[in-house]
Amino acid sequence: MSASQTSQRTHRCGALRKEHVGARVRLGGWVHRRRDLGGIVFLDLRDRDGIVQVALGPAWAPPDVLARAGSLGAETVVVVEGEVVLRPANMKNAELATGDVEVHATRLEVVGAATTPAIPVARAKNEELPAEELRLKQRHLDLRRPELQAYLMLRHRLLQRARRTLSELEFLEIETPILTKPTPEGARDYLVPSRVHAGEFYALPQSPQIYKQLLMVAGFDRYFQIARCFRDEDLRNDRQPEFSQIDLEASFVGSDDVLAYVEAVLVALWDEAGHAVTRPFPRLRWRDAMERFGTDKPDLRYDLVIADWTAAVAPLAVPFFQTAGQNGARVRGIPVRGGSALSRKDVDQLAEAAKQLGGSGLAWVKRQGDQLSGSVAKHFTAETLGRLGVGDGDVALMTIGPDRVTSPVLDRLRQEVIRRVAPAPATAHAFCWVMDFPLFEPDAETGKPVFAHHPFTAPHPDDVAKLESDPFACRALHYDAVYNGNELGSGSIRITDASVQRTVFRHLGLTDQEIGERFGFLLQGLAAGAPPHGGFAIGFDRVVMLAAGAGSLRDVIAFPKTTAARALFEGAPAAARAEDLATLHLKVVP
Ligand code: ASP
Repeated sequence: MSASQTSQRTHRCGALRKEHVGARVRLGGWVHRRRDLGGIVFLDLRDRDGIVQVALGPAWAPPDVLARAGSLGAETVVVVEGEVVLRPANMKNAELATGDVEVHATRLEVVGAATTPAIPVARAKNEELPAEELRLKQRHLDLRRPELQAYLMLRHRLLQRARRTLSELEFLEIETPILTKPTPEGARDYLVPSRVHAGEFYALPQSPQIYKQLLMVAGFDRYFQIARCFRDEDLRNDRQPEFSQIDLEASFVGSDDVLAYVEAVLVALWDEAGHAVTRPFPRLRWRDAMERFGTDKPDLRYDLVIADWTAAVAPLAVPFFQTAGQNGARVRGIPVRGGSALSRKDVDQLAEAAKQLGGSGLAWVKRQGDQLSGSVAKHFTAETLGRLGVGDGDVALMTIGPDRVTSPVLDRLRQEVIRRVAPAPATAHAFCWVMDFPLFEPDAETGKPVFAHHPFTAPHPDDVAKLESDPFACRALHYDAVYNGNELGSGSIRITDASVQRTVFRHLGLTDQEIGERFGFLLQGLAAGAPPHGGFAIGFDRVVMLAAGAGSLRDVIAFPKTTAARALFEGAPAAARAEDLATLHLKVVP
């Protein structure tokens, strides 16, 4: 007897194989497709294990059963009983795991009538999916699609594997509150009004950051949680307002320890998804990542590296480069191997993309044999290009400006070149660590220092002296995990000295009163004997998406929100009734 057996069925549809031939089975499932052929009704019957063909013919099925089968609509739920038979060799279906067999049903009962589905679950090969908005409104149907079923089943396995891996590493799974006090992770809080305390609010957690630190103060030593987090951020394509993190924290550790724990989890998760990857992951300093790839989440599958050509091109007197050296402007470029495959139109589009990012534009030289072409070709020789690593068949793409402008431009160019030239990747799975982030970054509007990660991150011990005098030069004990150009998560070693933590809050412009109100409970904890500690949070939804090769985060979340933070299926957010608002002591100001 298999674990899937219940009082109403003997097997799952998708589980039947050759070895079941001759067995009498009872199955329950959804009518995926129905075909009527020469007096025989064929049903593709579907459940979470897959699809099996059920055949109803006059030779074995009673007339009333045959008649009922002939009128079944798609997505009706039925229970059928019959015998598993081997299909004749020419009738086998290699595309179905159950394709060697079919079930000759003698009984059939409709147990769940179905209205005509608003979107099809069964699709012809290459048939396009309905628009996503419609699919999200009909999520109960879309979730029946075998692809989404497979993603969510993988998600389940990854969750179990993460739990097992961390448990084996002696991490304790401890839950922290959902109704909490605000923790700054750089986004707005979702607030929950208190009914019993008029005018007071809980915040939904942006992360369990402070709680996990307090668990270290309390002596739990190693904590993890599959934590649901909420951030009311401005809408972005690859974000969800609520998401899951594999959140962890450990005591008496340095960065190396935390990185080793996180690597163990990531390697296990990729293994669970069927991909062998090796550790340790290479480490890049933030400064080098920005210099060589123009981004803090470089895609290291491709060996395309940005170079500083300021000195090399200075003698060439190229007018486009005449501002080099002024206000920190540098000439930076990418030697693109095989880049002469880029068409004129490609290059024009790259130049346009560079302009849109606020760059000064793009200069380029293509080398084919001794022939040079491109916007600044007349200033170059094959020999100068050779010195820049630009060989026959290659292209040099160049731009000029301060790093803050050229880095994003070159990052984008690099991604576009990878897309258009499609070089062979050096590896399919390029994990890396980006380390030594700056502690502060300039606020987009005021230019004042704001925390790059969060205010609990410890400054690099070598830079503590610069905290006041030169905050932007101060590095943090903060690290990111990156996979194929995607940030998988962040973490840091924490400040454990209450007075240093207080100084940092002051630095952020908080008054002592505000510090007391907002973070008093953390400071109290730190002052009560805090072990050195650090941790990390892995963005679990993104991990599932990447490990599964899914197209979007919404495909690996059962009930996701749209990019506009709406739940289309259930219809949230929604207006509240006046009396509910009154109970909560709230009034909507239009
Ligand atoms: N709480 C941080 C975040 O959600 C992760 C960490 O520092 O552990 O990004």
